[in-house]
Amino acid sequence: MPSFEGRFANAFAEYNGVPYCVPTTNGSAALVLALEALGIGNEDEVIVPGLAWVACASAVLRVGGVPVLADHDSATLQMSCSDGESKITARTRGIIVEHLYSSLADLDRFLEISRKRNLPIIEDCSHVHGAEWMGRKAGTLGSIGVFSMQQTKILTSGEGGATITKSPKLFAILEQLRADGRRVTANSRIGCLELEEVGAIQGYNHSLSEFHSAILLDRLDHLDSENATRSRNVRVLEQILGDSNLAHLPERDPRVTKDSIYRICLRLGPPLLENASAQRIAQILTAELGIDASPIYRPLESCTLYRPQLCRRLTPELRYSLKYDPESHDLPGAQEAYRQYISLPHQILLGGEEDLMDIHKALKKVWNCVGKE
Ligand SMILES: *Cc1c(COP(=O)(O)O)cnc(C)c1O
Repeated sequence: MPSFEGRFANAFAEYNGVPYCVPTTNGSAALVLALEALGIGNEDEVIVPGLAWVACASAVLRVGGVPVLADHDSATLQMSCSDGESKITARTRGIIVEHLYSSLADLDRFLEISRKRNLPIIEDCSHVHGAEWMGRKAGTLGSIGVFSMQQTKILTSGEGGATITKSPKLFAILEQLRADGRRVTANSRIGCLELEEVGAIQGYNHSLSEFHSAILLDRLDHLDSENATRSRNVRVLEQILGDSNLAHLPERDPRVTKDSIYRICLRLGPPLLENASAQRIAQILTAELGIDASPIYRPLESCTLYRPQLCRRLTPELRYSLKYDPESHDLPGAQEAYRQYISLPHQILLGGEEDLMDIHKALKKVWNCVGKE
C-alpha cells in the first residue's frame, strides 16, 4: 500500500488535473523548491507580490536571489501586472504570482508577460486551493503551483505544503530536491521507504510526514463542498452589506469561475475611515464579534518581518545595497489597501446567515462608536 504521502500526492494532482504533485513540509519550503527547480539562484531578480505573506520574498532570499516588490491594485487587492512588468530587468529570472485572500491575480496578463519576456511563473496558491480561472484550477497555469496547508489555510493539516506541475522535467527536480536527492519508487517492500537514491541533485529534507498527509487526504474530500458554502455565503454577505457605505467587498473578476475564500476582505467606507484607522476598527470588531478581525498584510516595503538587511547569507556588501532595501520600493496601491481594508477569517462563512448579519450589525455598532470618539 503506498504511503499516505504518496496517496495524498496522487489525490492532489488528480484534484488539480495535473500529472504531478510533490508534497512538502510547508508552503515556504514549496516556494524555495519551486525557485530552485526553475534554476533561480544567486543574485537573480524575481518579481514578487508587495502585499503578501513574507515567505513570498524570504523564499527568494533563501535561494540567494533578489526579491523585487510589485504593487497591487487597491480595488481588487491583486498584484498589478503593469507594475510587475515595469520592474522586469535583464537580471529578472521569474515571477511569483500570488492569488491574494479571496480572488485570483490576472492570470491572462501574467501569462502573456511570461511568454513575451520568457520568464517562468510560480503561482502561490496558498489562499486559493480549488479556485478556478476560466474553468482551470489555480496553480496549473504557471510553471509550478505552490500551496501552503498551514493551520489558518482552507485546506490544512496544521503545517504542510505542496507543489504541482505539468512538467515531467520540473517534477523530477522537485521530488529530488525535497527528499535529499531521492525519488519515489514504485517497487518498495513493506516496511521500507518508498524512496530510491538518485543523487542527480543536491537536495534537502522537506518531506511531508505521514500524519500530515493522512489528514490532508481526508480534508481534500471536503474542500469542494466547503468552498461552495463559503462562496455562497460571501455573496449573501455582499447582499447584506448592500449599498451600505460602511464597507464592501473588493471588486470581482468574472474570469474567476470558482471562488475560494481564505480571508473575507472588507474595504471600509469613508464614514468609518474618516473617524478611525483600519487597525482601530479591526480591534473593535474583534471585541464585538469574538473572532479575529485584522488589518490585511502590511506591504512588504514596511513589514517588520521582512528585513533583508539582517539576512546573514548575503555578503555585507550586498546586504546594504539599495536593491535589498525594502524602502527603496514604492507601493502606493498596496499602502492604500492597507489603510482601507480589514479582513475576517474564512471560518465564519461556514456558519449560517445570522453570523453574516452579525458582521453588518457589528459594523453599524462600530460606526456609532467611532463616530463619537
Ligand atoms: C501561508 C503562506 C505561505 C507560507 O506557507 P507556510 O506553510 O506558512 O510556510 C506562502 N505564501 C502565502 C501567500 C501564504 O499565505
